[in-house]
Amino acid sequence: MSSPSESTNSSTVTEFGSRTYLYEVVGLRQNGPIRQSGTVLLTVPYNRMKQEMQRIARMGGKIVSIKPLSSSAANGSVAQTQPTQSENTTKPTQSKNTTKPMTQAKPKKAKDDIPVNTYRPKNPFIGKCISNEQLVREGGIGNCRHIKFDLSGGDLRYLEGQSIGIIPDGTDDKGKPHKLRLYSIASTRHGDDLDDKTVSLCVRQLQYKHPETGETVNGVCSTFLCNMNPGDDVKITGPVGKEMLLPSDPNANIIMMATGTGIAPFRAFLWRMFKEQHEDYKFKGLAWLIFGISTTPNILYKDDLEAMQQNNPDNFRLTYAISREQKNSEGGKMYIQHRVAEHADELWKLMQEPNTHTYICGLKGMEGGIDEALTAAAAKEDVDWTTYRQQMKKAHRWHVETY
Ligand code: FAD
Repeated sequence: MSSPSESTNSSTVTEFGSRTYLYEVVGLRQNGPIRQSGTVLLTVPYNRMKQEMQRIARMGGKIVSIKPLSSSAANGSVAQTQPTQSENTTKPTQSKNTTKPMTQAKPKKAKDDIPVNTYRPKNPFIGKCISNEQLVREGGIGNCRHIKFDLSGGDLRYLEGQSIGIIPDGTDDKGKPHKLRLYSIASTRHGDDLDDKTVSLCVRQLQYKHPETGETVNGVCSTFLCNMNPGDDVKITGPVGKEMLLPSDPNANIIMMATGTGIAPFRAFLWRMFKEQHEDYKFKGLAWLIFGISTTPNILYKDDLEAMQQNNPDNFRLTYAISREQKNSEGGKMYIQHRVAEHADELWKLMQEPNTHTYICGLKGMEGGIDEALTAAAAKEDVDWTTYRQQMKKAHRWHVETY
């Protein structure tokens, strides 16, 4: 495992003068002709930055970017010549005596294959509801449904972690068609029937008391979806979203923190990892789900989650925070941040592994308490959590979708 300072911020070296920088330069005259297509990478020590800039200018070059590297020695020599990024989907490799910037964790190639906006609001796909099942068991609170739609006859393809838009039937109070609402996809790319022809959602009906009248207000789209019957039509847009994608590396560690319907993308992840069989993806890392819900009957997909955990004890860890039933260490309600705090040292250790990805999905505001817990764990090793988290984000290892 790498030490925090190595894997977080490569520019946080104590001796300012020993920093090195990676210059990405175009148009440099090398042995006569100007290379039109090539990008030249130069590693430059801090104390030679000015001279190097002047030398590049003399040689007709233009600096496209400057990135901080490690404190390791650099000599200012030409590191490598690469095609420009538009010609090459992978980023240039570094000279061997430099530290890899964290931003390179994810190959760009993978992003290019992500389907987005196949269907737009002006021309949505018309799907059909296949099934609509209650997920809250007896004694639980509210109405939350697993809804499956038929995609036959269309081109809607999606990946785990993406969302789709739903345009509810009817008009708003100005007589205009309702706007779309986004919902995280709860099925894998193959759909619940494994025939690549369905998409499923996990939808909670929004219901609240009007602050002035005290009347119960039903959310427009969530009510429309929760009331759907098999055979009903639905207008679907998308898919959208690149934030919550599952890395293709089957050895990655996947930490998932969910509240309520925030489980949706993680259901897709876990089904891909443990329920489906793939030639090209056999999950061997650690998946750890920390799931915050109000009561035991509200644990969405409970039986499936627990069966997966029992069948894959070495690869799947399942931790609940049941706010109305469990108590935190101070005797208050057990929210997700309290569970994270309990396991903060272990989580922090795991997050320092370069192949660990952390995902947060669910209620807006849940990040605050999680940050607080991890701040304390990182501080024990004199690491600033906020800086570390920013580096994880840059490296595409920190993924948040809250609403
Ligand atoms: P609306 O009719 O649009 O009402 C919402 C409005 O009601 C709010 O804007 C607010 O003005 C008001 N309101 C809400 N609560 C209160 C209150 N307590 N007091 C007073 N006013 C209030 N939802 C899911 O169920 N499952 C998902 O998987 C999911 N994934 C999402 C993914 C993304 C990326 C995003 C952005 C959102 C996601 N949502 C999900 C939320 C979803 O998009 C809708 O916002 C939600 O279903 C409510 O829409 P609605 O049309 O029912 O409510």
